[in-house]
Parts: sequence; C-alpha cells; structure tokens
Amino acid sequence: MPADTPSPGGERYARHEALSLIGAAGQHKLARSSVLVLGCGSLGSAQAMLLARAGIGRLIVADRDFVQLFNLPTQILYDENDVKARAPKAEAAARRLRAINPEIKIEPVVVNVTAGNIEELVGRADLVIDGADNFETRFLLNDAAVKAGKPWVYGGVLGVDGMVLAVRPGVGPCLRCLFELPPAGGRLPTCDAFGVLNAAAVWVASLQVTEAIKILTGAPYEGHKLHTLDIWRGTASPVAAERKPDCSCCGRRNFEFLKPA
Ligand SMILES: [Zn+2]
Repeated sequence: MPADTPSPGGERYARHEALSLIGAAGQHKLARSSVLVLGCGSLGSAQAMLLARAGIGRLIVADRDFVQLFNLPTQILYDENDVKARAPKAEAAARRLRAINPEIKIEPVVVNVTAGNIEELVGRADLVIDGADNFETRFLLNDAAVKAGKPWVYGGVLGVDGMVLAVRPGVGPCLRCLFELPPAGGRLPTCDAFGVLNAAAVWVASLQVTEAIKILTGAPYEGHKLHTLDIWRGTASPVAAERKPDCSCCGRRNFEFLKPA
C-alpha cells in the first residue's frame, strides 16, 4: 500500500496514522480486517471499544448474557438503560459501538458458545480476541483457531492480576502448550466469587488489543511471550513461552474439545 494512500476515514484515524508503528498502510490493513470478540464482559467490552475506535473494518461481537447492574463498574460499554431493558450484551454493545464508529460493520451474535458452533464463529473473522470468562470456552477456541490456522489472543483477568498470550498457529505456542488442560470445575476462583478491578480488566484488554493490532498490521514478530500483569503493583512481566512438540492440540492436532463428549 503506497504511503500516500488516503486514510480510510479521513481525519478520524489521523492520530493512529501519525504513529509510525501503524501509519496509513497499517490503518488500511485494519480497515480490511475482521475480528471476532468472543465474550463481551469486562475484557470484551474494553476490547470491542478499542477495536471499533481503531477502525477494524468488521467486528463480530458474541455473548450469551444480559446486562446486569453489577456489570456496570467493570464492563465499560454498558449503562443503566441497558440494565433496565435487560438488553443482551451483544446487542447493547453493537448499539454503542455503532454510535462510536458508524464507518465500520458491527455484527452482534447472541450465542452460547459450544463445540457445535465455535468453528463457524471462528471462521467469520481474520482474528479472534478472547473475552471469555471461563477456561472451557478458551480451550474450545484454542482447538478451533489452531485447526483453522487462525491467530487469537488469550487474555485472563482475576482480581488485580492478568495474563495475555498471542497465539499464532504454526509459529508459536498455543494455549495447550502452556496449560495442558482446563482447571477442573470449581477449582479455579472466578471473578464472580473473587472479584475483579475494572482497571485491571482494561489493562489486560489493552494489551490484547495491541497484540491483535500487531498481528493484523503485520508488525515484526518479536518472539513468543506470555505476559503476566499485576496492576496493583504496577508490574508487567513477559516470559518466554515455547511450543511443545507433543502438544495435543498444535503438535498432534488432536482437537479433543471440538469432539462430542
Ligand atoms: Zn500447542
């Protein structure tokens, strides 16, 4: 793409285009990209808002829940009107995102993600960003994305801590290279019981969106890193993450989570 190509939205993206890491060429790549935001809670709200503002050409927002009052402190796309209307999060998110950026396509999907529909969902986008609130969904996503050779960005947040990993199938480790199996039911604390700091969720989402933008714009690859964040202490630590040659998913290509139980 020539550097003097007009920007997709004129003045709208001027500050991102001025950033040498993105530029006009990068902005055009974002405008031609599609991203699936899988889960639109505390992480997904912040991801979807940043991605829409960044001018991703097509955003698919998938969630199964309704907006509730206790969501408002941490889920930054929603307001009290959505609570009163008992609005599905995907539809409330789409309304807000269209108001933020009417130049892009927004596709809400009210859906309970299962082994039966994850591959179709993943197939709709160039990249998937993880806004899920449970490991079962993430292992489904990992199988479907690795099978399709599609990049996805893992993110988890609990309390004031978070983790982020960009999964590039065939290049770097997948989720199962790092975590062989999801934690047994009820063994891992959840945000419902343990709580979550809103700023921690936004920080994790911001790092996920940065990884997504790097992949979509073709930024130079800097190696495989698992990022661990602690916003209370203000620390972010990238640690090298390696592929396991015998990984059930990306090594042996045994996509067991996609198979019926
Ligand atoms: Zn793997």
